[in-house]
Amino acid sequence: MQVRRRIHVAGIVQGVGFRPYVYRLATERHLAGQIANTSSGVVIEVEGAAEVVEDFLSSLPTQAPPLALITEIRVVEIDRTGEINFCILPSHPSASVRTLISPDIATCADCLREMFDPADRRYRYPFINCTNCGPRFSILKGIPYDRPQTSMSIFPMCPNCLAEYEDPRNRRFHAQPNACWECGPQLEFCDSRGQRLSVEDPIAEAVAKLRAGDIVAVKGLGGFHLAVDATNSGAVERLRERKRRIEKPFAVMVSNLETVSHFCMLGAEERELLCLPQRPIALLPRKDPCPLADSVAPFNSDLGIFLPYTPIHHLLFKESDLQALVMTSGNLSEEPIAIGNSEAVARLGDIADWFLFHNREILLRCDDSVLRRTGGRTRQIRRSRGFVPVPVFLKRDFPPTLAVGGELKNTICLLRGREAFLSQHIGDLENVEAYKFFHEAVDHFQRILEVRPGIVAYDLHPDYFSTRWVQKQQGIQAVGVQHHHAHIASCMAENHLEARVIGFALDGTGYGTDGHIWGGEVLLADYVDFKRAAHLAYVPLPGGAAAIREPWRLALSHLWASFGPDLLKLPIPFFRKIPQAKILTVLRMMERQVNSPLTSSCGRLFDAVAALINIRHEVNYEAQAAIELEMCRDEAAAGRPYPFGLSEAGDPMQIDSRPLFQAIVEDLLRGATMGEISQRFHDGLVEALAAIARILRKRTSMNTVCLSGGTFQNACLASHLEQQLQSQGFEVYTHSQVPAGDGGISLGQAVVAAHHALSGDLSLRFTKRPAGREINNIAAAIPASFCHKS
Ligand SMILES: [Zn+2]
Ligand SMILES: [Zn+2]
Ligand SMILES: [Zn+2]
Repeated sequence: MQVRRRIHVAGIVQGVGFRPYVYRLATERHLAGQIANTSSGVVIEVEGAAEVVEDFLSSLPTQAPPLALITEIRVVEIDRTGEINFCILPSHPSASVRTLISPDIATCADCLREMFDPADRRYRYPFINCTNCGPRFSILKGIPYDRPQTSMSIFPMCPNCLAEYEDPRNRRFHAQPNACWECGPQLEFCDSRGQRLSVEDPIAEAVAKLRAGDIVAVKGLGGFHLAVDATNSGAVERLRERKRRIEKPFAVMVSNLETVSHFCMLGAEERELLCLPQRPIALLPRKDPCPLADSVAPFNSDLGIFLPYTPIHHLLFKESDLQALVMTSGNLSEEPIAIGNSEAVARLGDIADWFLFHNREILLRCDDSVLRRTGGRTRQIRRSRGFVPVPVFLKRDFPPTLAVGGELKNTICLLRGREAFLSQHIGDLENVEAYKFFHEAVDHFQRILEVRPGIVAYDLHPDYFSTRWVQKQQGIQAVGVQHHHAHIASCMAENHLEARVIGFALDGTGYGTDGHIWGGEVLLADYVDFKRAAHLAYVPLPGGAAAIREPWRLALSHLWASFGPDLLKLPIPFFRKIPQAKILTVLRMMERQVNSPLTSSCGRLFDAVAALINIRHEVNYEAQAAIELEMCRDEAAAGRPYPFGLSEAGDPMQIDSRPLFQAIVEDLLRGATMGEISQRFHDGLVEALAAIARILRKRTSMNTVCLSGGTFQNACLASHLEQQLQSQGFEVYTHSQVPAGDGGISLGQAVVAAHHALSGDLSLRFTKRPAGREINNIAAAIPASFCHKS
């Protein structure tokens, strides 16, 4: 029996080779019909024998091109037309309005094969790409995604490229960045002032400089990298000095998987992570000994490793004996990554010795993404290149909503129907350049997604730059969302949870509704509202931001809370490391309640333990003390988990860390190792949190737990708590699509605000601004100094 079917396919199905794919699928089966791009995806009509059409339909989603992402297929029966050919209809100008834009993807195996084939016309061409790979998001001006709307518009295709571009059977059919030696972008090699040098082969020149230990700024896909030979410690140290980055680990690009296995422990899961088509930076355990320079990641047992992902990277490695290059974002400390050639000379000219430029403009900066595997799951640490702008799909439709994120590791989020579009990593907004980038991202996302939000969500912190930006906007409904509520809502949204949950939101800093600095929070939360069920008991944060840079102040704060004025009599090594005058000043500060805002922060609890056992008294980048505390754990030496106190009667319940510090001091006095103390601390925290979950289950009958907040980037805490809770019958949800840290809160803000709009209740608007003094205290507690230290 002959039939004709009309098939609507939604998702990322334009600009990814979907139409040639369907064309092949249909013509191989001798089916007639057509395919066209529409405003919501593609529409296919196929006509032929019923069983062949069925076969076509079942193959359609399973063999789709690598970059395609199908979110919906709808099939209807229609009248036959008697057509005998299959054809691709031209795009209608308004076609791409609601379709999804593909992210930037690593060079595919087919293109690599061609690039290293001396007989191929693109032999060694540094901009080779096809519909399965290459730049997308970062070269996009507007929609529809067509060559005139990209930075390739200035390169008219040569007849050969055009023929490929127009041939539905070709791998480059409608590959917008398609180019070759004859018609496309070219490399050039320049000195540190941007003066072009007349060199025969810019790649060979860059390789020679890298091998000599020089710093070369390499223009990549989403921005510039600063590259040096990662095995040359003098070169790496010079880069640290010039970039003013003291100890924060550098990412390392390694020539291939085989070489990675010399530097890191590499299991099947890690291999898979490194080889994702997005080619993220993967955090991997370092081997000991490791041939890389120690200064690549001092005091760190993990390395951030990625594989080459542009043709330029492949050429640099393939045509040299370089094994590993530090490839760190082209910026000064925490500024956004540089993208323009003249911008790069202005911002990086004092850091880089040379520039490897090209003339394909990057229109949207996009840092490398960072992922890790823990507890059998892939976790996003920084969601950026390769993942943006693929949306997180939500369970229901929402009105157009913009969320402006937090202050640190800012991302923004736009809701469009069921799709939540998180931006790439924008950075710390207290940095002027990052704040400019925030504006660009807000404009660009609204333009490429064609969304005009009527609702804008923001963090309750009155001094966040994102909050202030919202307060200046007119004609929108602004909804303030508490920081930790946003964390939990973000976890709920990506996991499609509807009912109220027990939410553990653990992080460094978030503005509380009582004006204090929250961060060790247990909430009973849904999308509309939350109740603070328990939190770490408040301790003073003596010196505000200074205490975040100097964790020893937190150790002192906890000792003060645990031992009172007797603390100075404790014969522990900690006191021998800190000048007594400093100690007395800080004690006086806390006594007189001067510049000592109160905090329930879990991040600061880690800082305090790390400082007390002399792992680190001052930090050079965010969470450094906590990371080093996690790394020094010694599972073999561990004894009983440390105790925490819990006042069940309180509302909210207080988690008392005094018993913890009393036990640590006892251990220090008997000469316990750092590894043992760290392990007992981690285990104790897991036990205390699990106990709270059980109490709350008993009281509320709720059995679903969400884990969110930057502290859950601690793999030990995250996986042990998850296992512990699961073993006690809880349903546990964590993050996998967006970061657990502040890079993920814009999603939570957006869904909370959109729910308020749906319920007609926008009463959260500018809630509870506390008195001026508290605001100043809390603003001072934000680590402003990190923008020029790390
Ligand atoms: Zn390709
Ligand atoms: Zn060409
Ligand atoms: Zn947070």
